Amino acid sequence: MIIDLVTIFPGILDGPFRESMIKRAVDQNLVEINLVDLRSYTEDRHRQVDDTPYGGGCGMVMKPEPIFKAVEDLKNKTGELPTRVILLAPQGRSHNQQIARELADEKHLIMICGRYEGIDERVRAALVDDEISIGDFVLTGGELAAAVVVDSVVRLLPGFLAEEASTEESFTEPLLEYPHYTRPRVFRGMEVPPVLVSGNHGEIARWRREQSLEITYRRRPDLLEKANLPKEDRNYLEKFKKQQS
Ligand code: SAM
Repeated sequence: MIIDLVTIFPGILDGPFRESMIKRAVDQNLVEINLVDLRSYTEDRHRQVDDTPYGGGCGMVMKPEPIFKAVEDLKNKTGELPTRVILLAPQGRSHNQQIARELADEKHLIMICGRYEGIDERVRAALVDDEISIGDFVLTGGELAAAVVVDSVVRLLPGFLAEEASTEESFTEPLLEYPHYTRPRVFRGMEVPPVLVSGNHGEIARWRREQSLEITYRRRPDLLEKANLPKEDRNYLEKFKKQQS
């Protein structure tokens, strides 16, 4: 997979992809991540990427020409590779694990990081395939949002995680994950649940499933409404709800 991040502040994105597991994925050629300086697609002396809004009002708007040039050039460079152009935007689809999985199937992503009041609407109309938001709040720019989306996508690429690590975690099903413990067995009087040291793998799997159901019921009951749970899980939840009331 190739991911091109189009930004006027490539320095912001330097850190997140140069450390830890994402760096390893890059080193192992699971993904190529390119920081593309939008200013290198300007032609004027001041390398201007923004201008005042038509109709007046405060703030500046990102000009369409450099963004069109950048995206067209990046598409040319990758030739026949199918490309999805994504704009990071508060108006976009709310990012989640399902979208991360969708994007992990793509071959080439171009992500446009907005700044100022946002981008000229013609970019949205003629260039962008998809818009993604990382939540109902406004950031100063799309770079951090892009870093979040890229991180969530890269860790789903084949070869990145052990198979079971990606199939058991939160949102793989519409469920939150069970709790984890490590050594020491007793820490400040708090003991690891005995089942986890029982060596009984069937019991451990059952306990984890039940914990997952309980945590989801307590913290995100909305997820359970969408879940297509097997009968055993539904029975367990009914019993748990009765105990709670
Ligand atoms: N005027 C815009 C509005 O009210 O929707 C906000 C512009 S914001 C200051 C600048 C840029 O940050 C946006 O163009 C977008 O690329 C990015 N951004 C801000 N909040 C975001 C979010 N929640 N998710 C994704 N990108 C975001």
